[in-house]
Amino acid sequence: MKFFHTPDLIRRFSKDLVWSIDPVANEVYLTFDDGPNEEITAYILDRLSALGWQATFFCVGENAAKRPELLQRIISEGHSVGNHTNTHVNAWKTSSESYLQNVETAARIIKSSLFRPPYGKISKRLVNNLSEKYKIVMWSFMAYDFDSKVPHDVIKERAEKYIRPGSIIVLHDNEKFIPNEKAVFEVIVEVLQKKGLVSRRIY
Ligand SMILES: [Zn+2]
Repeated sequence: MKFFHTPDLIRRFSKDLVWSIDPVANEVYLTFDDGPNEEITAYILDRLSALGWQATFFCVGENAAKRPELLQRIISEGHSVGNHTNTHVNAWKTSSESYLQNVETAARIIKSSLFRPPYGKISKRLVNNLSEKYKIVMWSFMAYDFDSKVPHDVIKERAEKYIRPGSIIVLHDNEKFIPNEKAVFEVIVEVLQKKGLVSRRIY
């Protein structure tokens, strides 16, 4: 079963995590995970610039280390960056100690007080530890741009139904999911424009 919209039940069990932001006028929060990667991150930055929107990029440390100029471009164009671990680790398959070290390695390159756990997986112990330093940002709408089997008309219909002011929307700038993530990004842009919503960065 695919949850486009984060169920309230899950939200209630995790009060230390940020799932959405109190609505400000017509604003939502586009977020991009797994970059920076040359082609797709540059494409998204160009599009955001044309739209006059800001977003938040949860970067993988080793990707950012390979492409410091792209990381710098994200920041200089007015977007936020966040820590998405150094090697995209799964918290349920790693000891807490090595997970925290991995986050710290990424933090040497990604200067940010925002964190998002890869796969959305995290333990209570890690939440307790990381929330001392970071705002742990989850999401309210998952666009499934990483799964090319999900039809775009389904994504569009769910987006029209669930995205509202304050929504935190997950997309990707992962080189593995091109071209689907570009197409899904454009679907989301179309829905936001139709609803009169704009994207702002999280900070
Ligand atoms: Zn990720």
